[in-house]
Amino acid sequence: MADDLPPQLDSDILKEAEQIRRERTSKRAKAQAEAEAALTAAKKPAAEEDGNKVLVGNLIGEDHVNYVLMYNMLTGIRIGVSRCQAKVKRPLTPDDYTARHKFSFDIVGNELTPSARYDFKFKDYAPWVFRELREEHFHLDPADYLLSLTSKYILSELGSPGKSGSFFYFSRDYRFIIKTIHHNEHAFLRKILPDYHRHVKTNPHTLLSRFYGLHRVKLPRGRKIHFVIMNNLFPPHRDIHETYDLKGSTVGREYPEEKASKNPRAVLKDLNWINRGRQLELGPEKRAYLIEQLRRDSEFLKEMHVMDYSLLVGIHNMQRGNRDNLRRNTLKIFQPDIHYGLRRRKISQSGKADPSEAMAMRRAMRSSDPKAIGNDSTALPESDSEDRRHFIFHQDEGGYRATDEANEPMDTIYYLGVIDICTPYTSLKRLEHLWKGLKADRHKISAVPAAEYASRFLSFLTAVTRGGGGGQRFKPE
Ligand code: ATP
Repeated sequence: MADDLPPQLDSDILKEAEQIRRERTSKRAKAQAEAEAALTAAKKPAAEEDGNKVLVGNLIGEDHVNYVLMYNMLTGIRIGVSRCQAKVKRPLTPDDYTARHKFSFDIVGNELTPSARYDFKFKDYAPWVFRELREEHFHLDPADYLLSLTSKYILSELGSPGKSGSFFYFSRDYRFIIKTIHHNEHAFLRKILPDYHRHVKTNPHTLLSRFYGLHRVKLPRGRKIHFVIMNNLFPPHRDIHETYDLKGSTVGREYPEEKASKNPRAVLKDLNWINRGRQLELGPEKRAYLIEQLRRDSEFLKEMHVMDYSLLVGIHNMQRGNRDNLRRNTLKIFQPDIHYGLRRRKISQSGKADPSEAMAMRRAMRSSDPKAIGNDSTALPESDSEDRRHFIFHQDEGGYRATDEANEPMDTIYYLGVIDICTPYTSLKRLEHLWKGLKADRHKISAVPAAEYASRFLSFLTAVTRGGGGGQRFKPE
């Protein structure tokens, strides 16, 4: 990707970042103490008093198919990632971008893979590239990554998945999101992987979703499910009081306000933002960083012909703190019973798995009662993870703290990122553009060509940042 910025801007950003970092280290301690004081002052929530039994619900009992899927995904990741990780690091080759590593898992195991509870196949895409992304650019500790994803619990959020039908799960420590994606999105991500890698390398503070892994599981009846592992933009230790998904499109982009008042986890949209008179409260310095990074990221997405992405904005009000205990009341435990040690492989005298044993194990799986294991208790981490400290936009408690016009901190922390970046402007989107354009302003609907999408996205976000004039002019007439 061509990057037309003068090189000194990069180093200026880095210098400034260093300065901010220094100032922040001392301010952070103070802010932390204040926030904690506010927290302690707030009444302790009932759930916390009840021996930390905070995560409720039993997804497994309700949806056994997802239980199997989840189990397979986690088993595959555990084996795939640890295999790649065990090798000595080497420079990437062009073939690494198209590589696919296949694993077969069966109930009693074979020479290559340990036994697993279900029969399934697993594919690990471009494992060396994702390893480099995780370690070199996203500053993840390999052991942490594996541990988070194969830990005893997985969390799931109450409520339905996105419109696209994707499922979202969280690692037990709430750091990683496992999102199932459509085959087209998967193919597209593979296609743009070299460019994405280059962009991340040249833009260490990119706001684009951080992809940590791309995988596929194939279930016995032939269903193929693709999924990505990415960063959860929201922190484990701070309630998010309002969430917005901003695209710069305003046609049909409103979450009903009467429903929003009853649902603190509602994802609000562009019109809610404008009608509520919200703006990103950032002083000149932080404003400049954010807009510049958004410009670079949207330029990249334009070059990739991507559209339909959003800036996800999570707002934490430091005065309000965690008194409502929003995360804990809306998350569920999901326990796919992953075992750390490899199961002992049982191979019959002939060197093949004993089929009668396999049948017995499958029967045992079918008759086991998954509800029985869904009622354990757990707690979310109390602080933000280390890796985020490396990124300008995640430096304040994992987010980007509001500042006034003198660049002094205010009482709001924003959690920001550009999500849903795998939808290219295809002929189907062109049709949607034509169809929706018949009924509404064709420049304000979400399906517009990538170049128009990118420039509208950036103008909208500039407008709704303090000093940008507001988003009124983006509303439909
Ligand atoms: P839709 O088709 O409705 O846009 P989708 O299935 O394509 O949904 P996304 O748009 O990627 O999914 O995400 C849906 C919602 O999930 C977002 O509005 C946001 O609330 C949440 N979400 C997505 N990605 C992240 C992330 N990286 N961190 C935190 N929350 C996220």
